[in-house]
Amino acid sequence: MALVDPHSYADDAQPRTKHLRLHLAVDFEKKRIDGRAILELASPAGGPMDLDTKGLTIVAVTASGGGEVLFDLGPEDPILGRRLRLKLPPGTTEVLLRYYTAQDAAALQWLDPAQTEGKKHPYLFSQCQAIHARSMVPCQDTARFRVTYHAEVTVPEALSAVMSAGPSGVLKGKGTRTFLFDMPQAIPTYLLALAVGELESRDLSPRARVWAEPATVEKAAWEFAGVEEMIVKAEGLFGPYDWDRYDMLVLPPSFPYGGMENPRMTFLTPTLLAGDRSLVDVVAHELAHSWTGNLVTNATSEHFWLNEGFTVWAERRILEAIHGEEAATLGWALGQKALEDSIARFGADSPLTKLRTHLEGSTPTTRSPPCRTRRGRVSSSSSSGRSGALRGTPSSPTT
Ligand SMILES: [Zn+2]
Repeated sequence: MALVDPHSYADDAQPRTKHLRLHLAVDFEKKRIDGRAILELASPAGGPMDLDTKGLTIVAVTASGGGEVLFDLGPEDPILGRRLRLKLPPGTTEVLLRYYTAQDAAALQWLDPAQTEGKKHPYLFSQCQAIHARSMVPCQDTARFRVTYHAEVTVPEALSAVMSAGPSGVLKGKGTRTFLFDMPQAIPTYLLALAVGELESRDLSPRARVWAEPATVEKAAWEFAGVEEMIVKAEGLFGPYDWDRYDMLVLPPSFPYGGMENPRMTFLTPTLLAGDRSLVDVVAHELAHSWTGNLVTNATSEHFWLNEGFTVWAERRILEAIHGEEAATLGWALGQKALEDSIARFGADSPLTKLRTHLEGSTPTTRSPPCRTRRGRVSSSSSSGRSGALRGTPSSPTT
């Protein structure tokens, strides 16, 4: 037995998930997702398999042949959640879990219609980084392990769903629509992402599109019209963009961050819609993550500086290619100042100002000051307070 990450029950001596097939029914009345998750294993296996869960109610678990799989849920750990130990029969190739999420699932933010711009329909978005995916899907929730996925998301028919994946169709039901997605590139589970709301989109280039609520979508399309140029500049620096599409979703104001680099669907705060394209540099940061972080990432949250540090470096290279050397120099100076301010605030000998942190017993947070909070508008504009994704992150250096 070898636990490989202080923030996961995943064990690298046990079977490993290679591909996820998710069926997620989004219930706005109950504020929960009724899920079926099929975990396809890398190779036929038997014996114990430990998954991460947080707040999930496990209804049933069956193996490839339809036989029941015995399982037990360990005691609740306030940070990790509960270990779900499956006892797989020999030769298992896939395992099906039926479950539903908790009303206060850490990954899920449920908005009432009044909290949206259109005021007519509810809204749901997820934030799985750093260790919240386990509150949405039972999984091996460590950045060390990667999965591909297929998802079918059923929502009320007036609403649309987007994910960190390629769209692959819509099925009509009775009063519902089911959106299909495929993610052929393997991702760590913290990059699972889902949003559901009254959404429209506008194409910005053959491979880039922006999604937003109808009242916002034109403004968003104007603000981010230059994204293709950014992608081309980034490719000139770092090589081909490997994720096929670069789509963006502009969220309601309660989205707690400037941006989140969910692959194929960057999530962005609406406070970037300044009307003068002055804040679109945040997109350069999230786009940079398409190379640094999303293609290769830190093994555990204790080495997160590798992800965010290289991304800030790549972001500045992209901005230099677009705006020139003087603007880049100013960017470095502002970054240096932000770093010095943070060190002064937390203390030069604080464990939080070390590059390599020791976070066992702490909730990992991945919101580093350079990329998330230096743009003051972002944090000051969050109107509905702390989101589900922020709950339980008392050690965050960003607040
Ligand atoms: Zn970042």
